[in-house]
Amino acid sequence: MTDKRYKIFIQSLQQELPPYLEALRREAEACRVPIIRREMQDLLAVQLALVRPDRILEIGTATGFSALFMAENAPDHAQITTIENYEKRIPVAIEHFDQAGRADQIKLLRGDAQDVLKTLEYPYDFVFMDAAKGQYLNFLPDVLRLLRPGGVLVTDNIFQDGDILESRFLVTRRDRTIHKRMREFLYQLTHSEELKTVLLPIGDGAALSVRNESKGTYHSDSF
Ligand code: SAH
Ligand code: MG
Repeated sequence: MTDKRYKIFIQSLQQELPPYLEALRREAEACRVPIIRREMQDLLAVQLALVRPDRILEIGTATGFSALFMAENAPDHAQITTIENYEKRIPVAIEHFDQAGRADQIKLLRGDAQDVLKTLEYPYDFVFMDAAKGQYLNFLPDVLRLLRPGGVLVTDNIFQDGDILESRFLVTRRDRTIHKRMREFLYQLTHSEELKTVLLPIGDGAALSVRNESKGTYHSDSF
C-alpha cells in the first residue's frame, strides 16, 4: 500500500518487543498464523496510552499475540475480553496467556463473534476488531452498542491487501462479496453520526474511530 521504503524506515525506528512477545511473533509467522503487522503495534500502543482503558474488547484472538501486546500497553488493571471461533487456536492462545501470567487479565470467549457479541452488555472503552473482514459489517451494530461514548475502535485490514482500491470487477469472485461489504463498512464508519473516523494507510490499512460523546456536551451555554 504505502511505499515499501516508508515501511522499512518506520520499522527501523520501532522499539523492540519484550522477548516473549518477539518469540510469539516469530512462532506465528513461522506457522503462518495471522498476526497484526508490526506497524499496527505502534498505533495500538499510542491509542492505549491515550485512552487508558479499563475494559478492552478484541474480536479475533488467533494465538493471542495482540491481546498480550495490548495487555503490555494498557494500564495494569485493564481487563481484556477476546473472541475466537477457530477451535485449534483457542488452547494455544490460552496457553500463551497462562505462560505470560495474564490468565486472570485476559478472558477468551469461544464462538462466532456475531453470536458472542450479543451476549455482552457492559460497555468497553476500547475495541480492536481484527477478524474475518467480510463480517465487520455484521459486527458493527453490536460494537457500537458496546463502545462507551468517547471510546475508541481500531479496525485492522481495511485495505484487504490492496483489493479495496480495485474495481469490484477486478477482484476475484470469491473476494467480491468481501470487497463490497468492506466498502459498505467503511462508508458506515465514515458517515455514522455516532463516530468520528480516520482511515490510515498503516500496515494493511487501519480505521481509527472515536465514539462521539452525547451531543449535549458541546452546548454553547457551557462557555
Ligand atoms: N489479533 C490477532 C490476529 C487475529 S487473525 C493477533 O494479532 O494476534 C483473525 C482471527 O479471527 C482468526 O484467528 C480467526 O479464526 C478469527 N475469526 C475470524 N472470524 C471470526 C468470527 N466470526 N468470530 C470469531 N473469530 C473469528
Ligand atoms: Mg489483522
